[in-house]
Amino acid sequence: MTIVKDAVVVGAGASGLFAAAFAGRRGRRVVVLERSAVLGSKIRVSGGGRCNFTNLNVSIDNYISQNPRFCKSALAGFTPDDLLQMIDRDGIRYFEKEHGQLFCKGTSGEIIAMLRRLCEETHVEIIYTTKIHDISKRGDVFVVVTNNGIFHCASLVLATGGISYPQLGATPFGYRIAGQFGLNVIPTHPALVPFAFNAQDAGNFGGLAGISIEAEVSCNKKTFRGGVLFTQRGLSGPPILQVSSYWRQGDAISINLFPDADAYEYLLSRRSLKAELHNILEFPKNFARRWCEIHSFIKPINQINDRQLKEIADQLQNWRLCPAKTEGHKRAEAVTGGVDTAELSSKTMEAKKVKGLYFTGEVIDVTGQLGGYNLHWAWASGCACGRYM
Ligand SMILES: Cc1cc2nc3c(=O)[nH]c(=O)nc-3n(C[C@H](O)[C@H](O)[C@H](O)COP(=O)(O)OP(=O)(O)OC[C@H]3O[C@@H](n4cnc5c(N)ncnc54)[C@H](O)[C@@H]3O)c2cc1C
Repeated sequence: MTIVKDAVVVGAGASGLFAAAFAGRRGRRVVVLERSAVLGSKIRVSGGGRCNFTNLNVSIDNYISQNPRFCKSALAGFTPDDLLQMIDRDGIRYFEKEHGQLFCKGTSGEIIAMLRRLCEETHVEIIYTTKIHDISKRGDVFVVVTNNGIFHCASLVLATGGISYPQLGATPFGYRIAGQFGLNVIPTHPALVPFAFNAQDAGNFGGLAGISIEAEVSCNKKTFRGGVLFTQRGLSGPPILQVSSYWRQGDAISINLFPDADAYEYLLSRRSLKAELHNILEFPKNFARRWCEIHSFIKPINQINDRQLKEIADQLQNWRLCPAKTEGHKRAEAVTGGVDTAELSSKTMEAKKVKGLYFTGEVIDVTGQLGGYNLHWAWASGCACGRYM
């Protein structure tokens, strides 16, 4: 069976559905081919089930890419306000958690319902459990051979996401098709992912799972603040997830356990006390005791000399840890790397050397920081593509 469409979108995630709906609005006949039996599986789990769907402070500074300016045009073409108009129209109630992060008051299912409705309204067809056997281009026409028929189209959109969370259906398919058409793909790394301790730190801190400490975490000149969470295997929590996107194997991370004060001044002000150091530090008790034991800072503070006090303060403000690895793609909320932005038009997401071939969303080498930026990139790049394809 051969089916002729104006556009075929591969992947029914945030960016694919947006691209499809925006093209459908222009009267384009669009079909979305999805390998799984549902749409928007990553949206469903996003934001702990409440979907942090955008961020009021979206700017190019929130994205990682070999070309950090690539996302500028798409972000300007579809802003958080544009999304909020759509969200309001659907009566989805939301709230700002912190730092401009917008979450659903209800569940992420409401965002999925909005996407489904957008597609229905614009006559976009979605075909589930589709296995794509082959993609080729004959003249100006793409031929997509699947278990659900052979599709002919002038525009082909790869919106297959990154390879984070493969358990939700992520595949490297988009990268493979980019390679097939001669486009460069930047190697991927897990991003927004917890760290695993090295063997020594696992022995030292493995027993602290569940403890969270407010701190500033730095790696490769990027610093983020928030609750550092100890897990059974390593470290997690917002600032850890954030720095993980900039971390490479072998790098150390630095944790400032005194982000609001000068640790040395603080210790000096308590110098006359007879209490043990760990009882003076205002951290969860187990952590304070363990941290002092590991660093051999186990004296009462009034017996610690000036040189040692400076050393302790330095350790408190620049505690360096060398993670063994990240928890990998299985636990990563995103990936860095992907289809090289140098291959794509920043205005339309079309491949410069293959007319009619588009990439949108996470499959492109554009990765957002934690806070709704990844979904906003999916909306904005999908919209840019849908307005042209
Ligand atoms: C646990 C978790 C929580 C997250 N929370 C947030 C959050 O709160 N805020 C935020 O901004 N971002 C969040 N993200 C990231 C965000 O979900 C993604 O960046 C975004 O969904 C990417 O959209 P996409 O459309 O590019 O890809 P995806 O949403 O991954 O969609 C790709 C689609 O393509 C399909 N597909 C793959 N291969 C094929 C194939 N060969 N044939 C057909 N279909 C295929 C997949 O099944 C999938 O439906 C989270 C991610 C995870 C994993």
